[in-house]
Amino acid sequence: MNILIVGSGGREHAFGWHLKRSPLTDKLFFAPGNAGTAAIGENLSISANDFDAIRYAVLKNDIKLVIVGPEEPLVRGIVDYFKSEPSLSGIKIIGPDSKAAALEGSKDFAKQFMQKYNIPTARYLTVTPDTVAEGRIFMASLSAPYVLKADGLAAGKGVLIINDYDEACEELNRILGGKFGAAGNKVVIEEFLSGIELSMFVLTDGKDYFLLPEAKDYKRVGEGDQGLNTGGMGAVSPVPFATDEFKLKVEEKIIKPTIEGIKKEGLYYKGFIFFGLIKVGDEPYVIEYNVRMGDPETEVVMPRLMNDLVELLQATAEGKLGGLVAEHDYRTAVTIVMVSGGYPGHFEKGFEITGLDKVDGSLVFHAGTKLSGSSILTDGGRLMAVTSFGDDIVEASELSRKNASLINYENKYYRRDIGFDLLD
Ligand code: ATP
Repeated sequence: MNILIVGSGGREHAFGWHLKRSPLTDKLFFAPGNAGTAAIGENLSISANDFDAIRYAVLKNDIKLVIVGPEEPLVRGIVDYFKSEPSLSGIKIIGPDSKAAALEGSKDFAKQFMQKYNIPTARYLTVTPDTVAEGRIFMASLSAPYVLKADGLAAGKGVLIINDYDEACEELNRILGGKFGAAGNKVVIEEFLSGIELSMFVLTDGKDYFLLPEAKDYKRVGEGDQGLNTGGMGAVSPVPFATDEFKLKVEEKIIKPTIEGIKKEGLYYKGFIFFGLIKVGDEPYVIEYNVRMGDPETEVVMPRLMNDLVELLQATAEGKLGGLVAEHDYRTAVTIVMVSGGYPGHFEKGFEITGLDKVDGSLVFHAGTKLSGSSILTDGGRLMAVTSFGDDIVEASELSRKNASLINYENKYYRRDIGFDLLD
């Protein structure tokens, strides 16, 4: 069958790499893809949010399965569009509809959902411009630091953690006053939870779920997790502190009640759920839901998934996930994200990337790269994720670092300490 992957990052390349292994895959298409995806399928120059152009490409190329990588098209209703468009009936699309995508698109909706279904999460209050006074009182009842979250999507920048109460009150006014645009029409004020973060992922058909390998990502640009936040500088799977006992707890206290809630609310959800978790003592809490896979987490999760991905996605779309048994590679996968120097601040693009042919024993998933004739050029902040397997984090990260050192471009930068915080 022909399959379309919507998006252009390392996550989409990793999906494509896995789908390519399936005997059920004929041809892969990417909208819009990158230089790496061009090597395993056909890139279509279509934006991930241009639903009409996607429909046209699906019909023209006899595509039968669509996987949506990023959140924006989901929150904007790409699944609703597919469901309502008669010419697309019978075409399977992986993701929630826009109402269910509010689990990511609206932090207030997600918190209400968690509260209703007794899913452990930080205490909170949602504030609007009319209820600022209540917000201040609620904040005064918490201890510092204070967590303020713009309700809507804010490109990963809408969460502020502030130590000083007065400053937090000022920021609350600024967000409600439009600092993050309409995303800040409401603000979720949250209790700060102190612990260690990790993510778990499932595929759901709206009734059952299929557990994928867990991962931990590294958001800060600098080694030792210092400096500015990024889209993600690396990831590790499995996560050593996520013991079987802990993961069972997450399934019982978080995953099952979430699926139950989706069912009870009558939400249309056939896709990935990303549980952003924090382990406080031995207890898991939900920090956030995402309605798609993470990037760079996908670049370690997909290599460890041994099931046939096409079969899994078909079962997801057809409501037949129940009873499927997950097979995960026991080895450790570490991915290191290579970025343009200067990222996440100012950086330049258009430099040639060389040495990719020297990489030996690692997978390279492309993100911000583009083809120019026979050359591959830098075309973004995050450029490539170099994923390796090993018996442990030390071995896997060493191989990724060795191969990253062979890839060259102007102003090359990557973290050399991915996973090191997890070593004994
Ligand atoms: P992302 O870019 O991860 O999608 P986001 O903008 O959707 O982020 P959250 O994931 O809710 O926002 O929060 C971003 C980060 O802020 C979290 O990864 C976590 O480190 C921190 N954080 C959020 N809520 C809390 C909390 N209640 N206690 C402690 N830290 C928190």
